[in-house]
Amino acid sequence: MFVRDDYVSESDWNRFREVSEGFPTPNIFVNLRSIKKHFLQLKDSFPYANIYYAVKANPGVPIIKLLDSLGSNFDIASRYELDEVLGLGISADRLSYGNTIKKASDVAYFYEKGVRLFATDSKEDLKNIAKNAPGSKIFVRILLENSSSADWPLSRKFGCHPDMAYDLLVMAREAGLMPYGISFHPGSQQRDIGTWNDAIAKTKYLFESLEDEENIHLSMINMGGGFPASYIQPTNDLKVYASEITRYLQDDFGDDIPRIILEPGRSLVGNSGILTSEVVLVSRKNNTALQRWVYLDAGKFNGLIETLDESIKYPVVTDKDGGREGEVIIAGPTCDSADIMYENEKYKLPVDLKSGDKLYWLTTGAYTATYASVEFNGFPPIQTYYITEDGLQDKFGNPVEKPVK
Ligand SMILES: *Cc1c(COP(=O)(O)O)cnc(C)c1O
Repeated sequence: MFVRDDYVSESDWNRFREVSEGFPTPNIFVNLRSIKKHFLQLKDSFPYANIYYAVKANPGVPIIKLLDSLGSNFDIASRYELDEVLGLGISADRLSYGNTIKKASDVAYFYEKGVRLFATDSKEDLKNIAKNAPGSKIFVRILLENSSSADWPLSRKFGCHPDMAYDLLVMAREAGLMPYGISFHPGSQQRDIGTWNDAIAKTKYLFESLEDEENIHLSMINMGGGFPASYIQPTNDLKVYASEITRYLQDDFGDDIPRIILEPGRSLVGNSGILTSEVVLVSRKNNTALQRWVYLDAGKFNGLIETLDESIKYPVVTDKDGGREGEVIIAGPTCDSADIMYENEKYKLPVDLKSGDKLYWLTTGAYTATYASVEFNGFPPIQTYYITEDGLQDKFGNPVEKPVK
C-alpha cells in the first residue's frame, strides 16, 4: 500500500533492520542521523531564527544531547523535563518555559534554576509569574481558530484572544515583568501554510498597537511548531513553508523583523522513528466478511495514541509487500474497544499476512513512546532504542546490547 522508499532511504532501512534484529516487539528505533539532517535543514531554511526543540515530542537523552551539540535551545513544559535538560549540562538561558498551564511552585522552581523566559495566556498565570519569577521576560500566546487543516490541532485549550494578550502585556509591565513578545502555535502537522500568515498579521497588530498606545516595545515572535513530518497526507516541503513564512514576516514587518523563535517537535524527530509491531491475530467477524481484522502487539495505549480519531495516519509496511492486498481494520492488543487504530481509513495489507509477521510503522519518532500507558492490561510501556554514532542507546543514553539468540 505504501512505498517504503518514499519515507525511509534504503541505507537507513538496512541499518534499522540490522540493529533491530532480535529485539522483542513492540519497540521503536529512532535514527539520530535523520534528526540531525532535519535540524540542519530547518536551520538552513530559517537562518534568522532561534530553534527551541519542543522536548515533549521525544525527550530521549540521546536526542537532547545531539541537539545540544548542534546548538539548539529547548522548550520545556514541566519541571521533569527541566531537570533532565539541566542534568545534561545545558544552561538555563537556553530554555523557555512554554507551558501556559503551571503551578506557582513550578514557576518558582524554574526561576530558582535560572529560567527567565515564560509563556502565559491568562491573568492568574501572569500573577503567579510576577510573584515567583520577578523581572522575567514574558511572551503571550494568542489563540488561533483555524486549525481544521492541522492533523493534531493545539487550539482552544491554549492561547487567548489578541485583546486579552494586549491587556496581559500591559499588566506584565505594571507587575515588574518584561513584556517581550507574542507566541502562537499554528497546530501540529499544519498542512495549510496560510495559517502562519493570519497569525503573523495578528502579531503585527499587537506589536504596533502596544508600541503606539502603551509605549511597550516587543522584540520577539515565537512561531511555535507545526512543521510537517511525512505521514500519508501530502504536505509541502519545508523549503516552501520557509519561503512563504519569511515572505509573510517581510510583508508585515519589512526590514524590522523581530527576534524569531521556532519550537519544532514533530518535524525534527517524527521521521526518525520506526515502530515495529507483531501480528497477534488475523480474523474475520463472519464467514463471508470481506474485511480482515488485524490485531497487533502495539496499539493506542502503547505508542500509537495519535491514531485517536484516526488523526495521524502513519505509513505502514510489511515484509510481504508487493503482492495481493486486501482491506483491513487495524487494532491493538488490549481489552478496550477504543484500541482500534484504523477503521474508517481503508488500510490495505497483504492477503497472506499472518500471526508472527511484522508490521513496521514509519514516521513514529514523535509523540509515540512517551504517550504509552504504564501497564494497561499488564503490558509494559513500549521501549525506544536510539541509533547513534556510538551504537545503540536507551532513553537515558545508556548503551544497549543486542539480544543474544
Ligand atoms: C507541542 C508544542 C510544540 C511542538 O509542536 P510540533 O507541531 O510538534 O512541532 C511547540 N510549542 C509548544 C508550545 C508546544 O506545546
